[in-house]
Amino acid sequence: MDFDLTPEEEAFRSDVRTFLDENLPPEGERDAMFPLRWSTLVREKGWVGFSWPKEVGGGGGTLMEQAILKEELANRRAPALGSCIMGLAWVGPALIQYGTQEQKDRFIGDILDSKYQWCTGYSEPDIGSDLASLQCKGERQGDDYVVNGQKIWTSLAQWAKWMILLVRTDNATEKKHDGITCLLVEMDSPGITVSPIANMSKQPFFAEVFFDNVKVPVENLLGKEGQGWQITIGALANERSGISEIAGLLWELDLLKKLVKESRVGGKPAREDTRIRRKVAEFETRIAAMKYNGQRYLTKQIRGEPVGSETSVNKLHTAHLEKYMSEFALELQGSYGCLAPGSKAALERGRWQKEALGWCTAVIGGGTPNIQRNIIAERILGLPHD
Ligand SMILES: Cc1cc2nc3c(=O)[nH]c(=O)nc-3n(C[C@H](O)[C@H](O)[C@H](O)COP(=O)(O)OP(=O)(O)OC[C@H]3O[C@@H](n4cnc5c(N)ncnc54)[C@H](O)[C@@H]3O)c2cc1C
Repeated sequence: MDFDLTPEEEAFRSDVRTFLDENLPPEGERDAMFPLRWSTLVREKGWVGFSWPKEVGGGGGTLMEQAILKEELANRRAPALGSCIMGLAWVGPALIQYGTQEQKDRFIGDILDSKYQWCTGYSEPDIGSDLASLQCKGERQGDDYVVNGQKIWTSLAQWAKWMILLVRTDNATEKKHDGITCLLVEMDSPGITVSPIANMSKQPFFAEVFFDNVKVPVENLLGKEGQGWQITIGALANERSGISEIAGLLWELDLLKKLVKESRVGGKPAREDTRIRRKVAEFETRIAAMKYNGQRYLTKQIRGEPVGSETSVNKLHTAHLEKYMSEFALELQGSYGCLAPGSKAALERGRWQKEALGWCTAVIGGGTPNIQRNIIAERILGLPHD
């Protein structure tokens, strides 16, 4: 791994900094219209989908430039580049790799413009971790696939216009992975029912989705029939590397340090308590380890080597850190930590309470910690299965 940037990369970093100096006000000075201005600006600048090829409307940036861009944006607490969350994170990359020209023309521009949301239909009741056992059926009938079955925990389903969906098209394959196919499904197709599920912080963030003889035109098949598993492995690696990005964690760590400086424990400043200092140091060390691990797989990507299982290491760290950092912040607040999010007396209107209740997104979404441990054990360390 080479930590030094080339002169071109240094010049790119300097251009990014100049642009941010000129266009990104400090956090406290951003007005209500700023997010809209920002999304137009960064789209015009070519930063949304920055590493996607120019032929599909992306920025044509190198992976290293993309990493520099993300780092500079995170340092300034810049808003996200585009709001089409799953479209930008994994549907777009899957379309670029497996989509037909017609599919690329139809979807990629809209994803880059964040015109609407996508959702992801993988998990089913009783089938989450063992995804390859999925049962939702897609049967080819003439020019359509007819879909019957159910998905669950589908994030954003009630707001999404399109879904990237996995169905079983063949029950007779030797390996269950080979009978899975990926379809692109319009959410207002006749026969789809979306039933929101409230999570423990009462947000209806995800939903059950029922399919009753839903017709999906064959032109919405992504890749080939039976190639769904291969497409999904790539998408999950993208999801896990996205979940594992350290920018958000570094920001939380800064807020946590501020909280430590302002808190008192047992009548003394919290920062004088050895146990508390050790905890903060542990969080900081783990985030630094994640940074260098991330650079390892960035180096592999730059060399054109496939990246998959490695992303599980940082996914596991993120799961741990998201949970324990927010719980630690509540502990520091003493009895104030019990106040409900939104309560007037809660510190920062309960931002840490919300974080503490939202940990399951980072912990379970994209695959549970046990599943990441299995992947690390079997595919990275080469340990025996049984
Ligand atoms: C916030 C959130 C958002 C989500 N969004 C989506 C989405 O948009 N689309 C979608 O399709 N899904 C989504 N999911 C579903 C998520 O992918 C699944 O919940 C997850 O894969 C786990 O599956 P499960 O819930 O069926 O749990 P199970 O697979 O039943 O697991 C239960 C427990 O058993 C353990 N376990 C299971 N198998 C093994 C094993 N082989 N070895 C060791 N331990 C094991 C697990 O680690 C876990 O602790 C979301 C989940 C959450 C929490």
